Amino acid sequence: MFRLPVCPHCGTVYRYQDTRKAIRNKENTCYHCQKKFRARMFPFILIGASLPLVICIAVNIFLLTRMKSLQLLPLFAVTLAAILIIYLIVPFFTKFRKLQQTDQKQENNQEK
Ligand SMILES: [Zn+2]
Repeated sequence: MFRLPVCPHCGTVYRYQDTRKAIRNKENTCYHCQKKFRARMFPFILIGASLPLVICIAVNIFLLTRMKSLQLLPLFAVTLAAILIIYLIVPFFTKFRKLQQTDQKQENNQEK
């Protein structure tokens, strides 16, 4: 589950930063085999993301019960930390899928 995605064509393992870039792009070309793929998050992200959220809510409630006067800054900081954790773990919940084989070379030749 906690593994970085690999190219669906040649199995090249993608690094953290490359995975992040791939998620942003709609279409990706493998730097190794030059074939196209698409980055997709899989449903496990819901489990992975809900854990920091649950902790965040629990800590917020705990802080609220401890506070004598309402202070929003600690609550905000805890929530921000949870969002940051979710953001950081997203590449580990990503899988690369092959793009539909549309023969772009033929299309390009027809245009010329
Ligand atoms: Zn590849």
